[in-house]
Amino acid sequence: MNTETSTTETNLTAARSAAAYAATSATTPLRPFTIERRALRPSDVRIEILYTGVCHSDLHMARNEWGSSIYPIVPGHEIVGRVSAVGENVTNFKEGDLAAVGCMVDSCQDCASCADGLEQYCEKGLTLTYNSKESDGTITYGGYSDSIVVTENFVLHVSDKLDLKATAPLLCAGITLYSPLRHWKAGPGMNVGIIGLGGLGHMGVKFAHAMGAKVTVITTSVGKEEDARRLGADGVLLSKDATALEKAANSFDLLMNTIPVDHDLNPYVALLKRDATMVIVGAIEPITHDFATAQIVLKRRSIAGSLIGGIEETQEMLDYCAEHHIVSDVEMIEMDQINEAYERMLKSDVKYRFVIDMASLKKAA
Ligand SMILES: [Zn+2]
Ligand SMILES: [Zn+2]
Repeated sequence: MNTETSTTETNLTAARSAAAYAATSATTPLRPFTIERRALRPSDVRIEILYTGVCHSDLHMARNEWGSSIYPIVPGHEIVGRVSAVGENVTNFKEGDLAAVGCMVDSCQDCASCADGLEQYCEKGLTLTYNSKESDGTITYGGYSDSIVVTENFVLHVSDKLDLKATAPLLCAGITLYSPLRHWKAGPGMNVGIIGLGGLGHMGVKFAHAMGAKVTVITTSVGKEEDARRLGADGVLLSKDATALEKAANSFDLLMNTIPVDHDLNPYVALLKRDATMVIVGAIEPITHDFATAQIVLKRRSIAGSLIGGIEETQEMLDYCAEHHIVSDVEMIEMDQINEAYERMLKSDVKYRFVIDMASLKKAA
């Protein structure tokens, strides 16, 4: 009896191979790949992945568009699943619990940012969910896989009230908007503009609306008005309509800029009231357009940036979503449709986030 128990325990915590989908170079499509998930350390949680959202970063990394990719890459940092085993010191999770993992799986736990619960700004060593170095030097593999092993401090609880597949994108797209909306105190009486209506923008509309702000979607696309209103926007401003822009000058308390590429900031900054802020959450590439500094100097306006959210705030967001019935609008795909999904994502042909049903991985692998 004793021997049997200990054998089972060893099996549960031993290193395991896992089915995955990987890019093996910048120019090869993603394909089935086998990885190893480490043996559980005392504070580790093993999660069987049910759903993984598809983020623009996945595509950038798979194709080495930021120049930092280490192959093979297994992307995916919007992960929802169920706990299948826990290490001996884990207190916060047990087998069978719903669980989620976002963009990071570890941090130094020692610097000022970590002490403030802002692990995403860790000053000494943030470990991202994929293409990142663990403290022991191994490279992390993300959520395009049937399982993942993560230290419990970086695992989130998911309410069973939430639609799980539509919850996955909250872990990156959701928190990317929730955190700055909270930080800059979006709420009643505030005029909030969401620039761009994609994976990030549609979450911005839902959150800003739920927080009680007046929400305007600012977009280049005519024809997004109906959808914007359905998501909770009070109005739409077309950024190619010069007259409308002029009318809306000096009228916004807060702008969330979700445009994922280099672009001209000037027309958007002009929309801010005195002392108001535009937060950049979409683009991390250099802005090459000229910027009229007078626009910020003469009205004490700010341009700021924001990166996802800390673990505590990510949990707060997931709980807020369960309470307010907020999830992402998703289109489900099977694992072997990922390359096609990337092509469609490049054309913004998705409403509003692709999510991979990980049960399909068994079929694909
Ligand atoms: Zn992401
Ligand atoms: Zn740190």
